[in-house]
This record gives sequence, structure tokens and C-alpha cells, in this order.
Amino acid sequence: MVIDFEVLSNFCQVCHTREKKKLPFTPEWQQAHSPRCNKNFNGTASAMESEAACRLWRRSTTLGLRYTTFVGDGDSSTYKAVKDLNPYDVPVVKEECVNHVSKRLGTRLRKLKKELSTSITTKTGKEVRRSVLGGAGQLTDKVIDTMTSYYGRAVRGDPKKPYSDTNEMSTAIWASYLHAISTDEEPRHHFCPASADSWCFFRRADFNPDEPRRKHSQKPGYFSKIPKKNRIHITKVYTDLTSRDLLSKCLKGRTQNAMKVYTARFGRRSQNTSLLGNVESTTPCRWSPSSTTSAFMTPTPGTPWLWNVTFQVKQPCHP
Ligand SMILES: [Zn+2]
Ligand SMILES: [Zn+2]
Repeated sequence: MVIDFEVLSNFCQVCHTREKKKLPFTPEWQQAHSPRCNKNFNGTASAMESEAACRLWRRSTTLGLRYTTFVGDGDSSTYKAVKDLNPYDVPVVKEECVNHVSKRLGTRLRKLKKELSTSITTKTGKEVRRSVLGGAGQLTDKVIDTMTSYYGRAVRGDPKKPYSDTNEMSTAIWASYLHAISTDEEPRHHFCPASADSWCFFRRADFNPDEPRRKHSQKPGYFSKIPKKNRIHITKVYTDLTSRDLLSKCLKGRTQNAMKVYTARFGRRSQNTSLLGNVESTTPCRWSPSSTTSAFMTPTPGTPWLWNVTFQVKQPCHP
């Protein structure tokens, strides 16, 4: 449910065309145009986002709400603006959008592959740089995409059985990594889920004694062919992306996707649909209305704080 929005734009097609045609901006013309002018902000896109956020946070209390959680995508300038605004007597806490976090593994692995390069001489005597992680059986695009999707799944977890702490999430992520480096000589499935319907063929076999355990060599793990001395860099990426600090901001599994419909509606009207809010999580205090909608539609003046609201910032994303 959208509870508030702010549309800012630093561009107006009519003004732009007039400028291009070198027509004068007379006071009469400006007066007639101003009610329809789309430009209502002077500044950069990131300044626009911060400004829109501050406007929304500033007026939240007039709706009987306070937005105590900020779900963002890692770019901290807007959050910093809200934090500096310090709108309430309780802090505004930042959470990460899990869909954005999910994509970080791919970004990091691609960067790593690009950076870890060595100079080689081709048959024609030309010096070229090649990634030490490139080539068949190594860090191919397919491997990166697959491992990124496993990382994302581990971060999101099972919505029916949410993680109780960051350790559980961390274990799930490391399971995907260790499973992928496993070989017949060195099976590393101790973190993989132990059940008859586990996604891990190795642990599944523990519960299905009649089924022969598949050999690793039949279908090698995605990272298993990468030499250990190179794999160390990938391990470092996983260590960074399982930090307690990062995972604690993902525990509630929130995303920015709830805004999708609204952005689509306003996207055409303005180039910069800036900020939208919705009630993602509600913690009723003192008074429990029968439905969230009524709480929003009829904020009760004078009633003590009704809801703690999660507020989502920025454009929608896709898992
Ligand atoms: Zn205009
Ligand atoms: Zn496994």
C-alpha cells in the first residue's frame, strides 16, 4: 500500500523546446506556463532523491506515522540525508534491499575476473592480457550467473521459515560455496541441508540408502575446477558478502518491489518518479485498527504513534 509519494523533475519538455528555439521567457509566458511546468527541482538526480526523501520524512508525522526503517539499495547518500534530518526521537534504521544484495556476488566476481589478469604472448607474438580466472571450467559467465542466483536464494531464504539470525543465513550462503568446490577427494557438504528432499545430492543420499551416491566427477561443482591458489580470491568475496553487518540488514528480507505498480503509473508523467512508500511491516502500538488501509485512510489526530512503517526508497528492482 502506498502511503505517500513525491514526484520531482529537473526537466520540462516545454521549457526545453522554448530554450532550443531561443524564444523569450517573458514574465507573462512564465506565469501562464508555471502551473503546467514539469520542472520543480534544480539539481542532480542524487540530490533530487535526497531532497524527496527529506520532504517525505518531514511530513510523515502529519499522517500519524513515522518511517523507522529505510530500505535502500546500498547507495547511502539518501539514507545519510534522512539520518542527518533526524526527524524523530527514535533512529531511522537502514535495511538493504535483498534483491540488490543478491546481485552483489555477480558484480564482485565479474570485477575479480577482470582484475586478476596476466600478460601472455599469442602465437603471432602479440602481448595480451588474459584473466587467470577465465576459460573453460573456470569463472565463466554461466558459473557467475548460477552462483549469483544461489547466493540470492540463500540471502532470501525460505519465506515460510525465515532465518532467526545472521548465522543461519551465513551458513546457507557458505553451503552454496562449499558445495560448489566439493570433489570426490574433498567433499564439503557439511553445511548443505540434511534431508531427504535436500537440494544437495550428497546429503540427500544419506536419507535414501537405496539410491547410489552420485560421484562428484559426474557433474563437477561450479567452482571445483578452479585451482586453489586462484579460488582464494573467490573465498575472499564470499567472506565479504557474508559479513554480519551486511546480513543483519537483509534479515527481514525486504525488497523495493512493492513500488512497481506505482512507478509504472507515474513513470510516464515525470522522468524522475522519486520516492514511494508502502506499508511493508506494521507494528501496531497502543491501538490496533481493523485493517492497515483504515489506519492510513483515517489517521487519528491526537492519537499516539500508530505504526512503525518501513519506507522504501528508489526505483523498483527485480530478483
Ligand atoms: Zn516548463
Ligand atoms: Zn552439498
